[in-house]
Amino acid sequence: MSEVRLSARGLTKRFGGLAAVNDVTLDLWRGRIHAVIGPNGAGKSTLTNLLSGDLAPTAGSVSLAGRDITGWSPERISREGLGRSYQKTNIFPPFTVWENIRLAAQSRTPHAARWLQSASRVAQANERAERALELAGLQARRSSVAGASSHGEQRQLEIAMTLATDPQVLLLDEPLAGMGTAEAQRMVDLLLSLKKDHAMMLVEHDMDAVFTLADHLTVMVNGQVIASGAPADVRANPDVQSAYLGA
Ligand code: ADP
Ligand code: MG
Repeated sequence: MSEVRLSARGLTKRFGGLAAVNDVTLDLWRGRIHAVIGPNGAGKSTLTNLLSGDLAPTAGSVSLAGRDITGWSPERISREGLGRSYQKTNIFPPFTVWENIRLAAQSRTPHAARWLQSASRVAQANERAERALELAGLQARRSSVAGASSHGEQRQLEIAMTLATDPQVLLLDEPLAGMGTAEAQRMVDLLLSLKKDHAMMLVEHDMDAVFTLADHLTVMVNGQVIASGAPADVRANPDVQSAYLGA
């Protein structure tokens, strides 16, 4: 069985005259972290939104586990196994860590059956939430009010909420943004621990983290991929050096 979990082919998104994402092709593999870097405005968040269904492409296609999902709603794509985090946090501050994760786990329940609170459905959501809490290393924070947690813990919580939907593919938009060194290290360890069982796309500005984590690196500038491949090769690419890394 192919280990490619998510494929984009010729993805393009135009906003009026601007091609925010221009003919991007990429594959996300289970067991690999695919980092996407590029200056502000390069199209990284737009690309993430195209893969998650939050935006419909102008051209091109997306497939998840071999199935064409182009034009599907984000809810349907999420139920099919794609989890994403947002650049801006998505937590409910007055609720506890556990309550936030439990609510996220609920959202995996198929739409048509949501009104039906059968015992087994509740048990399954509880199980997904428990597993996500543990995977994200938040057991000790279970009963803490989310809004009172540190910035780093809130970002961990957001990953846990994504994991609670039991995704095969994770799209993470700047999970290390605003973190101190210790928090960033914890997040790097968490992402490494999740790598084995997931296909991951990581949009990130922290270059130390990118080069620690990435198995594959894509560089975008003005909506286009200017280099893609093994991180060491991409780093050595003169186009990348002049366009982005500033060396
Ligand atoms: P990045 O995440 O790499 O910083 P974005 O994907 O947010 O870049 O933006 C890429 C380009 O598309 C930018 O020029 C941005 O201004 C533009 N853009 C993004 N979203 C929209 C939108 N909804 N409408 C119009 N232009 C947009
Ligand atoms: Mg962005």
